Amino acid sequence: MTLNKRRSEASACAQSLLDFIDASPSPWHVVASIRKQLETAGFAELSEQASWNLEDGRSYFVIRDDSSIIFFRLGRKTLQHSGFRIIGAHTDSPGLRIKPNAMVRKQATLMLGVEVYGGPILATFTDRDLSLAGRVSVRSNHALPGIKLVRFNQALVRIPNLAIHMNRDVNTAGLKLDKQTELPLLFSVSSHQARYSVDSFKTVLAEQIHCDADDILAWELAVYDTQPGSFWGMNAEFIADSQLDNLASCHAGLMAMLSAQNQNCEITQVCAFFDHEEIGSESAKGGNSSFLSDVLARIAMGRGANQQQYLQALANSLLISADMAHAWQPSFPTAYEPDHHVLVNSGPIIKLNANHRYASNALTEAMFIQCCEQAGVPWQRYVHRTDIPCGSTIGPMSAARLGIQTVDVGNPMWAMHSVRESAGVLDHQYLIDALRVFFTVER
Ligand code: ZN
Repeated sequence: MTLNKRRSEASACAQSLLDFIDASPSPWHVVASIRKQLETAGFAELSEQASWNLEDGRSYFVIRDDSSIIFFRLGRKTLQHSGFRIIGAHTDSPGLRIKPNAMVRKQATLMLGVEVYGGPILATFTDRDLSLAGRVSVRSNHALPGIKLVRFNQALVRIPNLAIHMNRDVNTAGLKLDKQTELPLLFSVSSHQARYSVDSFKTVLAEQIHCDADDILAWELAVYDTQPGSFWGMNAEFIADSQLDNLASCHAGLMAMLSAQNQNCEITQVCAFFDHEEIGSESAKGGNSSFLSDVLARIAMGRGANQQQYLQALANSLLISADMAHAWQPSFPTAYEPDHHVLVNSGPIIKLNANHRYASNALTEAMFIQCCEQAGVPWQRYVHRTDIPCGSTIGPMSAARLGIQTVDVGNPMWAMHSVRESAGVLDHQYLIDALRVFFTVER
């Protein structure tokens, strides 16, 4: 393939990633976006509450509590001999979440109180065109309330910076925000003396989802940046958007699965995308939950495997934990391990850590290198500085829960956990190509 053809294909692929992110401003919307693409591709939904009847050659998806999803395509080979090929990633991103008693009134100004979700770079949320998206529980006649997705498309809220005239040290001391007192979002100014309460915010929400304000019982609402994704750089070789960590990996896994749709599938392929990674994965639907093991066991039982054969299948399985990685930013040279710089647009990264904050080992590292070689894409190795604590992923916990050989990989990016992150156009296509090969790896 010529370089120009590769570039234009990669640009189209990066554009589809930006469209996916812009349609998915919260983890609940991420799963709704994935569901839509899977349904179009003919995947059938399974409910965890129902009994499963799996048919040969078919593809399925399972959603747990609206924001974690597992989808799979059944292979022709027996599970106990070929195992599963699994790609894991996470649907959530760090940021701000609206408090239950949302409305705060300070003098004539109305604000919305927020909690910090995970570890965002808070300063990047200032002076952005922010809005709200998430899910709302609405009263129903059933035991369980109805759930509605909500998204305000227009900019709705803001955290204005203090002018430099009142914050002279901001460029030397950095922008520090008090989480309790300086993060509430500006929402409106009103000279009315009326007492504003949580109900005023409920009214705005109710108008958006077309229901009665009294019927809104609860919500989970994320703050998101309304600016759409963009290309930048001398040759438009970079992309910028919110949530690249880790929607880029979710999208890459989804594309790898969908692009293999018409191929004969030998080995059972699985994508497992979890909410709550940014807050430690300890929840009923997080990476450390029973979700993946439950689904794998039910697939095996649905294929007629007994316990012995199921354990055999796990032992023959391979898992890629896909999560973004830190690209070399030359303005901050001391932040990086000097002998393990990884560059944007130079291929997916294998993450290594002697203390197993990443699950990669010599076998799985080499397996991924072979996938890249077969796909004709470059690859890189990343090690964190020894004197800075290393982050982690769902890789080690999934490996520990299931006993599956696992490798941690991910694409290089800048400004991880900023509300506006950036990455390389070529890398996204490279990762998809490598993941497609992974789905076919024999053991
Ligand atoms: Zn991540």
